[in-house]
Amino acid sequence: MADVIYKRLYFDWGGRCAYCDVALSRMKTGGKVKASIDHFIPLSKGGQNGRSNRVLACYPCNLAKGDIDPRETNQWPDVERRLAEIAASPLLSHGKLRQLIPELVKQIGIEA
Ligand SMILES: [Zn+2]
Repeated sequence: MADVIYKRLYFDWGGRCAYCDVALSRMKTGGKVKASIDHFIPLSKGGQNGRSNRVLACYPCNLAKGDIDPRETNQWPDVERRLAEIAASPLLSHGKLRQLIPELVKQIGIEA
C-alpha cells in the first residue's frame, strides 16, 4: 500500500474510523488505536481496490466487519453515502496532503 494512498484515505475520512468514529493515528500502526484500510465491498465479493471502495477503519471494526457484504446487509448507509462523496471529490496532491494532514491531526487531538 503506497503511502500516498493511505494519506489520502486518512484525509478523506477525517482521521476517524468510518464505522465507530474513533480518532485514529495518522500512522497505520502505533498510536492509541491501530488504523487499517477496509474495502467496503470485500475484495473476495468482487469489490474494487479503488478510492470509491476504500474506508478508513480502526482495526477492531475492520475485524468485526470481516467478509460482510454491505450490499446484502445494508448496515452502513452513511458510509456508503460518504464513499460516493469521496469518489466524486477532487484528488489532492501528495504535497497538499502533507500540508493538510498535520492540521487535521491537531484538530482531532491525536498524537502522530
Ligand atoms: Zn472503529
